[in-house]
Amino acid sequence: MTSPPKPPTPFDAPVYVTRPMLPDMESFRPHLDDIWSSGWLTNNGDKHQALEARLQDVLGVPDIALFNNGTIALLIACQALRLSGEVIVTPFTFPATAHVLSWNNITPVFADIDPQTLTIDPRRIERLITRQTSAILGVHVYGIPCDVAEIQRLADYYGLHVVYDAAHAFGTEIDGQPIAAFGDISMFSFHATKLFHTAEGGALGMRDARLKRRIDLLKNFGIKTEDEVIMPGINGKMNELQAALGLANLDALDAERRQRAAIKAVYRARLADLPGVTLIEMPKGVTDSLQYAVIRIDADRAPVHRDTVQARLRDYNVFARKYFFPLCSQYSCYRNLPSAQPASLPVAERAAQEVLSLPLYGALGEEGAHRVCDMLHAVMAA
Ligand SMILES: *Cc1c(COP(=O)(O)O)cnc(C)c1O
Repeated sequence: MTSPPKPPTPFDAPVYVTRPMLPDMESFRPHLDDIWSSGWLTNNGDKHQALEARLQDVLGVPDIALFNNGTIALLIACQALRLSGEVIVTPFTFPATAHVLSWNNITPVFADIDPQTLTIDPRRIERLITRQTSAILGVHVYGIPCDVAEIQRLADYYGLHVVYDAAHAFGTEIDGQPIAAFGDISMFSFHATKLFHTAEGGALGMRDARLKRRIDLLKNFGIKTEDEVIMPGINGKMNELQAALGLANLDALDAERRQRAAIKAVYRARLADLPGVTLIEMPKGVTDSLQYAVIRIDADRAPVHRDTVQARLRDYNVFARKYFFPLCSQYSCYRNLPSAQPASLPVAERAAQEVLSLPLYGALGEEGAHRVCDMLHAVMAA
């Protein structure tokens, strides 16, 4: 008789899904010295210009505009394209995606998602297009690209704009093509919970230089010259401290990516034999942005429901997250919309019941990942 395995020991300190990467103080301090000696804290300073230039290169887009956060960036993307009426959007996302539409007086129209990629399903988009539709807003959720070719085909045929929420897709490539090469505008978030971050921050990537000029006006009150304000803009500017943190973090990014890839490899190997559990993987030809490690716990095949797994992991001091539950279509502000009815969003409804985001950050280490796997095995056996 073999004795039952010893239950895993809980972590001493809480383990969250992420822990923001921070540069060495030594590599950050020279940037601060520059800022202190120039006395220039915001409004397109040296750090802002340097980060914009470097990110243009890193993200492989002709033009980029930096922002104080990703939500304001997406809000302005809608303004820049003069979107109105209705926009077709995925319900399986962070609240900001749907909310920016409301803030632009646009009605979100929810389309169901693809069961494999969990991104907006082009087969569901077409039937939702009306004379009021002005755009499709897709989310490259977990860094998995939307069906960009089919979405562009629909947009071209019906004369719609395409905007992507690429908050999870920093560095993602499809067969070597950078993610921001698709759609009219792509939004990136540099929030502290994102792989690359500036504490708070964001960017829009685009290929049309005229759009870049309009976006730069919109994020700075519409001020064209000292004597001329030409549109009702807002304050969306990234400041110099944020940009400096971004420059230092860019230098530390490769090391963080390597550590995250190693952690994901541990999850891949150790969770493969858990019944009903699958680690969500990138499709062929897509580079992993390493933003999240998400498992899907099949409600029919796994011995315990996702919510139970989440609750039991908490006993071990592991705070896994239900990204994304509830669906945007279930928020009280949207659930009465005709497109928000659960019956028309079955794939998203099911995914929202099954996904669980596991800790993924360099400092967790492979050893930490092994401990999380031990805990998952214990939880699923119970
Ligand atoms: C983080 C995130 C945002 C919001 O970005 P902020 O920079 O926090 O404003 C929007 N959409 C998605 C999918 C996100 O994950």
